[in-house]
Amino acid sequence: MTSTASPDSIAARRDDILSRLDAAASHPVELIAVSKRQPDARIEEALACGHRVFGENRVQEAEAHWADRRDIEGLKLHLIGPLQSNKSEEAVALFDVIQTVDRAKIVKTLSAAAQKLGRFPDLFIQVNTGEEPQKSGVVPAELAELVAFTRETYPGRLVGLMCIPPVDEPAGPHFALLAKLAEENGLESLSMGMSSDFELGARFGATHVRVGSAFFGEREDG
Ligand SMILES: *Cc1c(COP(=O)(O)O)cnc(C)c1O
Repeated sequence: MTSTASPDSIAARRDDILSRLDAAASHPVELIAVSKRQPDARIEEALACGHRVFGENRVQEAEAHWADRRDIEGLKLHLIGPLQSNKSEEAVALFDVIQTVDRAKIVKTLSAAAQKLGRFPDLFIQVNTGEEPQKSGVVPAELAELVAFTRETYPGRLVGLMCIPPVDEPAGPHFALLAKLAEENGLESLSMGMSSDFELGARFGATHVRVGSAFFGEREDG
């Protein structure tokens, strides 16, 4: 909440990330500040600089961070972590965007929750571009079927695709694949790029980047 932006303040880091995104791409890129495992004081600091778009990867932690802040003007919350079907209703109640749809069962429970609550978060499908066995996300070969099922079933909008490239591989080919899959499936939004590669993501056409530690500073353990 200090007005003088020291180089290690959230305000300074945010300005730096925004200008680097601006330089990397001619299209607008939404900066999602990933607030998982960040202390409350940093969330307050981000809000004080006018930031309004945040990502969380666990429903319960997100409720602790955001339930009491839900009516802040312009606030937009993205779920970027794996979703259990028994948490669908809580997720629909809290989030504006759910980026981690990866199977028909989740589409069904989200659809039921949306109908029940009269709230229709935008959806992204998470794609396991590296086809890693331990990672969530639909494999590319099964994407078209899940897209069709989601469009038939979900009463809100399916807007895009999200990926987390394998840690030990260059991200570029994964971002290129995600962009190609989005185009083939008629989807506009692409969530790709994190602290270490958000500019690369933007150059490959990301419409959303998910930046945690480069925005807030290192996370607490947990
Ligand atoms: C934690 C997380 C991020 C942010 O990670 P940083 O490397 O701190 O930017 C982005 N996307 C997902 C899915 C995450 O879980």
